[in-house]
Amino acid sequence: MRQDDGEALVAKDARHVLHPWADLSALGTGTSLVVTEASGVEVVDAAGRKYLDAIGGMWCVTVGYGRQELVDAMSAQASRMPYFTPFADVSNEPAAELAATLAELSPGDLNRVHFTTCGSTAVDSAVRIAHLYFAAQGRPEKRHVLSRTDAYHGSTYLGASLSGKEADRTRFHYENEWVHHLESPGYDPDTSPVTAAERLAGLLEGMEAAIAALGADTIACFVAEPVLASGGVLVPPPGYHEATRELCRRHDILYISDEVVTGFGRLGHFFASEARFGIVPDLLVTAKGLTSGYQPLGAVLISDRIADALARTADPAKPVFSNGFTYSGHPVACATALANIEVMRREDVCGHVRDVGPYFVGRLRELRASPIVAAVRGDHLMACVECHVPGESGPTLRNQALAARVDRHCETSGLLVRPFENLCIMSPPLVVTKGEIDRIVDIMADALARAERDLRDEGIG
Ligand code: PMP
Repeated sequence: MRQDDGEALVAKDARHVLHPWADLSALGTGTSLVVTEASGVEVVDAAGRKYLDAIGGMWCVTVGYGRQELVDAMSAQASRMPYFTPFADVSNEPAAELAATLAELSPGDLNRVHFTTCGSTAVDSAVRIAHLYFAAQGRPEKRHVLSRTDAYHGSTYLGASLSGKEADRTRFHYENEWVHHLESPGYDPDTSPVTAAERLAGLLEGMEAAIAALGADTIACFVAEPVLASGGVLVPPPGYHEATRELCRRHDILYISDEVVTGFGRLGHFFASEARFGIVPDLLVTAKGLTSGYQPLGAVLISDRIADALARTADPAKPVFSNGFTYSGHPVACATALANIEVMRREDVCGHVRDVGPYFVGRLRELRASPIVAAVRGDHLMACVECHVPGESGPTLRNQALAARVDRHCETSGLLVRPFENLCIMSPPLVVTKGEIDRIVDIMADALARAERDLRDEGIG
């Protein structure tokens, strides 16, 4: 792209686009990174600068950019049959094939798939299915939903209501009457003053107390990310998922696992729920890596037990499952997902993640030597570096400014990480090599050293 074309694009974007999650104080200032090309694990901006993508697009680009197999699948499906309604008794070939493939890959008896358009619409749909499940049994009062502080479940009204990051819950309106947030479950053995067993006991006590206070007969479901992603890569103490699953079973509360980020290989398995955490949820939500980000698509996987109960008890006067979107199970998106799964299986991408994941986290942990690093957390290919002005803890304004500075130094050295509050979050494409991981860590180390120098020059810390 010619340089003046690149500049014109940046100007158009600044004038006309309201970006998701934009910093409104910078609206119209024309500083956006406009990405125009991508290949492997690298993206190129409108000025021709190359960056190593350590955020995998947005947790989602798993098999890397420029995969011809995926492009061919999209193109072939778009030529043959780009779209037709998915409603009622109409389907399309890739959607039916993909549903059968997902049933094969998913844990336990999660054999029925309700397609959506993205993660948020899948989370919404899963909660609505939980409501329908109880309503169909004549128990509509079971409608309260348990989520967790620091969770992220999307940007629809319900997804945002379930999300529990304090910083995001200030200016819009949220459903607060029947959505409740339990304590954020992260446990970091490096920084925690208590043992993992004590932490687990405290979390379970809190959950039991919430169930007792609301009354189990008013609670429909518990929604949980296996590892909280956008909240800061928070890994719960060992045994947390099994124990919360058991609590849900005991109280007839449906367990919804939000695997929008952890699904499709990021933790070394197609799904983390069973393979990593030993649980089979009642419903499982996935999106992002399902198509490696090449197409928007989400899905709710429903256990046979739930699906059968819905069908058995459907109200004869109103038997319609009134949920779904124009683009639910879009044929081009489903064809892309099938091609993506084919590549992942052929190349054993999950096996690769199990190999490079511990290396990634291990190398990143070396960054704890920097005085401006408060913690490094991670699990396979999701990780975060928590920054602080020495002596200050948490997302204070100065710590946030510091993380933004580290992010800028990374960017000028050709590395994209994702700043959130005082965190630099990383989730590279799953095909990242150990050599590329070394580059990520080296650039990050240099950015941290530069940010630390900035602090000294400014007399801070
Ligand atoms: N759940 C989780 C765990 C997520 O991280 C996200 C997106 N980052 C969503 C749901 C929402 O997905 P989408 O942005 O595709 O709507």
